[in-house]
Amino acid sequence: MEEKVLTGKLYDLQGYSVHDGPGIRNTVFLKGCPLRCPWCHSPESQEFPTELNWMEIRCVGVEECGKCIQACTRGAITKGDEKVSLKDDHVYTVVKVERLKCDECFACTEVCPHTALYKCGTDYTVEKVMDRLRRDKPFYKRSGGGVTISGGECLCQPEFTLALLKACKAEDIHTAVDTTGFVRWEIIEQVLPYTDLFLYDLKQMDSDLHRRVIGVPNELILENAKKIAAAGGKLQIRIPTIPMFNDNDKSYRAFGEFILELGDAVTQVQLLPYHNLGVVKWERLGRSGPALEATPPTEEFMQTRKKLLEDMGVKNVVIH
Ligand code: SF4
Ligand code: SF4
Repeated sequence: MEEKVLTGKLYDLQGYSVHDGPGIRNTVFLKGCPLRCPWCHSPESQEFPTELNWMEIRCVGVEECGKCIQACTRGAITKGDEKVSLKDDHVYTVVKVERLKCDECFACTEVCPHTALYKCGTDYTVEKVMDRLRRDKPFYKRSGGGVTISGGECLCQPEFTLALLKACKAEDIHTAVDTTGFVRWEIIEQVLPYTDLFLYDLKQMDSDLHRRVIGVPNELILENAKKIAAAGGKLQIRIPTIPMFNDNDKSYRAFGEFILELGDAVTQVQLLPYHNLGVVKWERLGRSGPALEATPPTEEFMQTRKKLLEDMGVKNVVIH
């Protein structure tokens, strides 16, 4: 019988990242997430299957190309809006994708010469990812960086994440797992020996509010954080600071109390101000935008959040 090759479904692999853990890192983004944060700026990470992405700005128009219309046997691609070229003012017609007719056969992505239509989600073996990650080993060493496995929720592809972590540690590469914490403890327990650092989001300490806004309660997330700390794991706590949801004093005091409970396991607390830069990504997937569009907090306001935690005794708080 043929042996099944282990693969993970990635939606991105970014080099030279300085936002996903210490030093210069490569971040491996896996598809699929059980949470539905209304401010999500990576909607392409939410669903598990490969999806069709459509980037209108790359389309050169049906007059010059139109290959996707011919390739689509479902009639899901037709002529869309007229646009004026910024380069030489010529008028051209971009295509439009009718998502309800599309069965995601991806034939159009094979013929589009400008990757205006492209797949989001590719299956990789561990070895193929490692080939890419190995190239930057000198940067990891020099900067104190390494590899971060992120998502989506990377622990929703537990076998692949574990195998990738083991492969990194076998080559003495520093590893970080960026997780929502909303996974069974048994999965975290398995990856723990191969994970130097967990990047761990705290979004809301009130479980009912967490469930109503994000779709899942927070007990499992908080319990897992405590278990990681008790098992000797290291946590970089991240607090996405979201207007009208968790930016008030009450929420921040609750964050502070919980972080203090975790003790020395916490290496840093990062405050991530809400931003709305990801709106365009929803359009590419043909979905309506994030349920939350708010004004990003000011630097002064973020400083008040930092001070509140520091006054409680929380150490190493940074605004990211
Ligand atoms: S992926 Fe959708 S739009 Fe593209 S060819 Fe297939 S059915 Fe048509
Ligand atoms: S194949 Fe690509 S570039 Fe050509 S018309 Fe379709 S979307 Fe535009």
